[in-house]
Amino acid sequence: MPNSDPRSSALPSIRGSSALFLDFDGTLAELAPTPDAVRTAPGLLDSLATLSGSLGGALAIVSGRSLADLDRLLAPMRPAVAAEHGAVLRLADGRMHFAEPPDLRDALHAGSELARAHPAVVLERKTMSVALHFRGAPQLAQACIDALAATIENRPELELLHGKCLVEVRRAGVDKGRAIAALMASVPFAGRQAIFAGDDVTDEAGFAYVQDSGGVAIKVGDGHTIARHACESPEALRGWLASAASTASTASGTSAAAAAGPAR
Ligand SMILES: [Mg+2]
Repeated sequence: MPNSDPRSSALPSIRGSSALFLDFDGTLAELAPTPDAVRTAPGLLDSLATLSGSLGGALAIVSGRSLADLDRLLAPMRPAVAAEHGAVLRLADGRMHFAEPPDLRDALHAGSELARAHPAVVLERKTMSVALHFRGAPQLAQACIDALAATIENRPELELLHGKCLVEVRRAGVDKGRAIAALMASVPFAGRQAIFAGDDVTDEAGFAYVQDSGGVAIKVGDGHTIARHACESPEALRGWLASAASTASTASGTSAAAAAGPAR
């Protein structure tokens, strides 16, 4: 129903004054049956490196994944990162910020028991959270949710997060909106216009922050969203990034040639 969708399918241009924030899974990379099976597409790192250079380093990955996981998927790049939804932040200059780690022993115990009983369920222990992935066993969604929900009763410092085929216990008050705000307060992001692309319900807090602060939100794929821009797939988003990277390298080639003076 293209005519009833209020979102714009024309993606914004990435300007020299933009700050680019990108979710990883489902946004830059296609989802896979398990997190470990997700791959970085050929050419993506070249696009990201070129864009990061043209934005003075104002490009960050904003993901629910752990920092170690993101560094593995993005190597040899080491961009600014909000990992674990922002509980772990690496600024553009490499400085780290960590939220205080919550006590997750109950969630770890309950999650391990369920994953042991059902091998298609994948338990993931991150620094600041415990997640159950059930893409390989969608019929166990409610069992996964119930198991982790029981561990946060009377624990106001914890909350349950629902993602795509995923439920996670984490510290309350950590979300991608706060993560992007923290990065936007640091060099070289401060003073730029934020663009954030994401695909999941966990990205909505990031969309709200960037749109409220005059930036641009892009929802990748289907689903209810507050984002005012739409992109149909990770492949299409990568195409947009590749095209912006190509424009940026042409522009820098042109300005380098101009700076060098006329050819002799
Ligand atoms: Mg995602």
